[in-house]
Amino acid sequence: MDSPPATKFHQKTSACVVKMVGNTKPDVVILATGGIPLTTHFQGLENTHWMLAVDLLDGGLRVESASAFVIGGGLVGLETADFLTSQGVKVTLVEMLGEVGGDMDPLAKAMITKRLKGADVKIFTDTKVLSMKKNTVIAQQKGNEIVYPIETVVIAVGVRANREMPDRLLKRDLEVYVIGNAVEPRKALDAIQDGFYVGNKV
Ligand SMILES: Cc1cc2nc3c(=O)[nH]c(=O)nc-3n(C[C@H](O)[C@H](O)[C@H](O)COP(=O)(O)OP(=O)(O)OC[C@H]3O[C@@H](n4cnc5c(N)ncnc54)[C@H](O)[C@@H]3O)c2cc1C
Repeated sequence: MDSPPATKFHQKTSACVVKMVGNTKPDVVILATGGIPLTTHFQGLENTHWMLAVDLLDGGLRVESASAFVIGGGLVGLETADFLTSQGVKVTLVEMLGEVGGDMDPLAKAMITKRLKGADVKIFTDTKVLSMKKNTVIAQQKGNEIVYPIETVVIAVGVRANREMPDRLLKRDLEVYVIGNAVEPRKALDAIQDGFYVGNKV
């Protein structure tokens, strides 16, 4: 399967940045390369029309169909559903945990879930996607198998630390600091705090 745009960017630039560091020999390298969206290889994904939530939210891609099926009900999945309904797209969202927005501030969560309810977004918790066919998703919900019709699938199942460049540079004889989501996926304030401490240190 071809890599989605968000992943391609990292693959393309990593090698060239490592080379630049080798050439310029800086005193200190601070790596804040963030996270790479997870695609989780759902069985049959390649047969569907799918995209990453981040590629949609940054304006790189658009949902052209009348409906979208969002996988993942964390902060990004909920923001994606909100964005899509504002464009008139009918949204179904599934989350494998017992609640959506578990990683969100309670007030922000209450506001967005109220908006999604008002926009008639169908939200299914305790629902784990198992596999896909061209026009359907098969999911497990509390022991039962459910089949959802789909047009466009939007994936918002989290990120993994973008470690390719950090791991290559850490092997060299350089003073290297890794901060933010490149350490592990966290909130923006954690990344800012890492940056503050490293900035004060060097
Ligand atoms: C849609 C969305 C909404 C979010 N909302 C919130 C929120 O409300 N509150 C909150 O606390 N957190 C939120 N987050 C999480 C937050 O964005 C992250 O915690 C934070 O951005 C991590 O900061 P970072 O600097 O480590 O990584 P990033 O912000 O991801 O920055 C890493 C940067 O490095 C660049 N990069 C990577 N590799 C290379 C390379 N080889 N060469 C050059 N550049 C490279 C990337 O393109 C990127 O711009 C949200 C995330 C998303 C996706």
